[in-house]
Amino acid sequence: MNVPEKMKAAVLFDWNDVRVVERPVPSPGADEVLIKVESCSICGGDVKIITRGMLKQPPMGDFIIGHEYAGIIVKKGSSVDEFNIGDRVTVEVHKGCGRCKNCLDGKQTACLNYGNKEKGHIANGFTTNGGFAEYAVNHVNTVSLIPDNISFDEATMITTIGTPLFGISRNGGFIVGDSVLVIGPGSIGLMAVQCAKALGAGKVILAGTRKERLDLGKKLGAEYTVNVREEDAIAYVKSLTGGHGADLVLIASGTTDAFQLALRTVRKGGDITILAHFEDPVTIDVGLAVQNMNNIFTIRGEGRQCVHRGLELMREGKVSGKEIITHSFKLDQIKEAFDVFMGRKEGAIKVVVHP
Ligand SMILES: [Zn+2]
Ligand SMILES: [Zn+2]
Repeated sequence: MNVPEKMKAAVLFDWNDVRVVERPVPSPGADEVLIKVESCSICGGDVKIITRGMLKQPPMGDFIIGHEYAGIIVKKGSSVDEFNIGDRVTVEVHKGCGRCKNCLDGKQTACLNYGNKEKGHIANGFTTNGGFAEYAVNHVNTVSLIPDNISFDEATMITTIGTPLFGISRNGGFIVGDSVLVIGPGSIGLMAVQCAKALGAGKVILAGTRKERLDLGKKLGAEYTVNVREEDAIAYVKSLTGGHGADLVLIASGTTDAFQLALRTVRKGGDITILAHFEDPVTIDVGLAVQNMNNIFTIRGEGRQCVHRGLELMREGKVSGKEIITHSFKLDQIKEAFDVFMGRKEGAIKVVVHP
């Protein structure tokens, strides 16, 4: 395939200063592929990266942001036989070093050599260049084939599905018929609702503060929704669960209120799994968890091949990203795209950018 030498890319020059500039098209190493990016979506992580920064991110003026992207393989390294030129692929963020204790144990999203490229660790769009560009390189470990019935836009969301699936696998899953409460109807929460339903949860309850999001959650499989600003969410969840509380609570909103609600709505002995990022320290009633013998699990990112499971659920039509994608922009309009996403303008949930 014909690959040009230069490309357009969105580079972070300063806090909140993302500019589309010309950059050389990167070359894939032996274990890498070059992807012509068709679609890249904005994630809350990108907002953190451009507003306050994240651990080990590349220097200002060099860093091409974006980590949720999909496209076509146009070039591949000498050892790559897993993929072919022309394959439609999507990517996950974390390529562990493959040599630390955590990577050897399958916990590559918690790699002990995070940010150390020399030792083999890569987090595309976090510690190395990402996908708000016409082209991006990826290690084969982070690449997945997109089934034919899934669009590039939708395929950018495999991390968004992989995250709740990883959460559910970290707490050991749930028994078919168990009740699952999801707190926070953002893109992760809306995916969590669909994953819980697809995996056989009984009652799926979604709690949040915005009516439109809760209504969307209902469309996507939450039989019960509760607006925590208007109703007594604790009483509501208890009323749906025989007075005991939900078997599993997934926290998809990084706030004190969300955590406190989880502690008060989970069944005695039930599990709480945190999917959300917490920007600030929170004060929670740990005593309650101890008294009720609750397990609290955390995850980082989309580990344990959960994106592969997510793609399969999407292929089967059990999980959908279509309703969650609300806006799309051209790469040149990336500032506008971030404005809409950050300001949640016009009900924005997931915003995709097309190079
Ligand atoms: Zn993300
Ligand atoms: Zn590692």
